Amino acid sequence: MQADLHPDQAIARVETFIVTVPRDTPYLGPLGPDETINERGYIVRRGNGTIYPSVDRSVAVRITTRSGAVGWGETYGICAPRATCEFVNDLLAPVLAGGLPGEVEALWDEMYGLMRVRGSFGGAYVDAIAALDIALWDLRARALGRPLRELLGPQRRAEVPAYLSGLPAATLDERVALARDWQQRGVNAFKFAAVVSHEGIAREFAALREALGPQAELMVDLHWKFDAQEALALARALAPLRPAFIEAPVKPEDIEGLIAVCAASPVPVAAGEEWATEYEAGHRLGRAPLAYLQPEMGHSGITQFLRIARRGEAAGVQLAPHATIGTGLFLAASLQASCVAERFWKHEWQHSIFERSLALLETDMAYRDGAYRPPSGPGLGAVPGPRFWDHAEAVG
Ligand code: MG
Repeated sequence: MQADLHPDQAIARVETFIVTVPRDTPYLGPLGPDETINERGYIVRRGNGTIYPSVDRSVAVRITTRSGAVGWGETYGICAPRATCEFVNDLLAPVLAGGLPGEVEALWDEMYGLMRVRGSFGGAYVDAIAALDIALWDLRARALGRPLRELLGPQRRAEVPAYLSGLPAATLDERVALARDWQQRGVNAFKFAAVVSHEGIAREFAALREALGPQAELMVDLHWKFDAQEALALARALAPLRPAFIEAPVKPEDIEGLIAVCAASPVPVAAGEEWATEYEAGHRLGRAPLAYLQPEMGHSGITQFLRIARRGEAAGVQLAPHATIGTGLFLAASLQASCVAERFWKHEWQHSIFERSLALLETDMAYRDGAYRPPSGPGLGAVPGPRFWDHAEAVG
């Protein structure tokens, strides 16, 4: 019997934690015109009508086996994190009890299947499954004493190339100065967020191209702002500035719009951070000729990240995984999975979050010279450290 299939490894306990870390400058940058923090601590970004907390916040899960072995997972906790914890504690933990971590893919399918007829194709329910899936993979790899990536497939890279994401400063001049500052430190691939491009997207792109030179790789995240016609007009306006890609041009549900943009855009198109499952990806891949696919580990978990990546490979799309607010646990999982992806471009590197995450964890995960160093320890290669516990609240 495999070590990870022994009855002693059966799941005995599942716990959820909300981790909240205050920050001085809100995610995506200082408050814009008409943006305020409401009584629950949220900001509605006027640029796209999307809600964010003014703190960094995440949901972590800990699974313990009958023998006392532990696995960690994490998902999004930025909005209404207790909803995600409730899905774990009320619905999923009792279903997992007694299951074996070695059967993790089958457990993902079982958990997803419980709620598909209620319309839970994404959102907090599938996020909750993602956190548990990561913890189960972590447990399984730890039981074998190996880094998780060694269980996922042939090792295709020891380092994970990365691009800088986000220029959190109040004005265009300050954002350009911030990018130049990073360029002097060796970074040469940059993405900015249209949501906080208050001086105009084309103007910001032109200013960055002029300041950073012809060799810099430049991208813009359009944050689902446009319809297909508007997005195509913008793509044509940006084409002379040679974007490496434009990201998320149309609303997530506008599949026909995404197909139209991908088919006619003169510049490469990236999308996919909100597609939590292979089903969501499958509705688009093959129909929309994307250049880059951006799975988010915090939504997909390991199981769906790998299945989405395989669908992308079959469609000839390059992987450019998403990174966002978290403690670093699901980022560690994303780096583990990125080491085995076949068609891989670069992983997103949220410099305003990454160092904060490292302070919460015990890990040797690092970023240096345009690439991540994936953690080397068993499992995820990252576990909560003392600062994590300073900011964590157990949710029963
Ligand atoms: Mg994005």
